[in-house]
Amino acid sequence: MKWSENEIEILKQNYECNGVDYIKMILPDRTKKGIVWKVGDLGLKVNRELYNLRISRTKLNTTKPFNLYKVNPDIFLNIDSKEISYILGFLWADGYIRNDCISMWLKKDDSENIKHIFDSTGIWNNYYRKLKGRKEQMSFHTHNKYIFNFLVENDYLSKSYVNQSKILSLIPNELKHYFFRGYFDGDGSIWMKNNQCIMNITSTYEQDWSVIEELFNNLDIRYTTSCYNDKNRKSKCSRIVTQNMNGIVKFFNYIYQNDDMGLKRKLNTFLKIKVKYDNIVMKNKKIKENNSCTHCESKNFITKGNYKNNKKRYMCKDCNRTFIGI
Ligand SMILES: [Zn+2]
Repeated sequence: MKWSENEIEILKQNYECNGVDYIKMILPDRTKKGIVWKVGDLGLKVNRELYNLRISRTKLNTTKPFNLYKVNPDIFLNIDSKEISYILGFLWADGYIRNDCISMWLKKDDSENIKHIFDSTGIWNNYYRKLKGRKEQMSFHTHNKYIFNFLVENDYLSKSYVNQSKILSLIPNELKHYFFRGYFDGDGSIWMKNNQCIMNITSTYEQDWSVIEELFNNLDIRYTTSCYNDKNRKSKCSRIVTQNMNGIVKFFNYIYQNDDMGLKRKLNTFLKIKVKYDNIVMKNKKIKENNSCTHCESKNFITKGNYKNNKKRYMCKDCNRTFIGI
């Protein structure tokens, strides 16, 4: 359905102060996805100052002081702790919001592992359930319309096809890596078998990976993205994957730069990979120290394989000849 002049004018007049939910109320025939697409096309962005002003006005009208809520909305409206940054990342991956409720179900072991992080921000309710064929789960749950509105304004209802740039614009730079740590703890996976390691983040088929791609590019991490549409199993997803140890270690060094808060099982795999990587780096350093090209004395060579008596064959990149060394 083509956008009329009138509709476009409504977007221009209202989107920047009020966001997508407000537009949806004025233009009920449009889908949120369609609106998000069109404002992107027009280059419109929500103005954070106007938005925050509106939130603080809403705050003044409430009779119940924020500090009386089980989880104080202020800690979300002014993000200044690593715990909130981490929780926002985790909620982006696995959170579910509806009717003023914020909830997240995880395997019980994982929930127990990060419970102290949630507890440090307020009183979250925990529920338990056991779904057929799955491990026992435990939830974090809170009912709070201010936190709910905040999350809606920052795309948490459209996160299956919109990227994380809005919420990241509200998180101070020095806390952003906690967001990515929480996000990875939710949607990421990492494993190592023999010498092979794989790190990936899996999400919806329509996922917008641009923010993660930008992060990986900035950290100089090689990656691939791919979409899967398995018609037989009726499953669709997309994935961003890194298979080189060097890239995985760079990501690890970024998200865990100050402390080890978060899911221990993922951290432990990262640590194992880092130890292995450090050993390889060490080994390569020794090889360079102990060898140089026997033809031109260059240190610019690569390993080509094993030679007899524990010696190795190398290939010089300067003179293109092979030589034997230790
Ligand atoms: Zn040479």
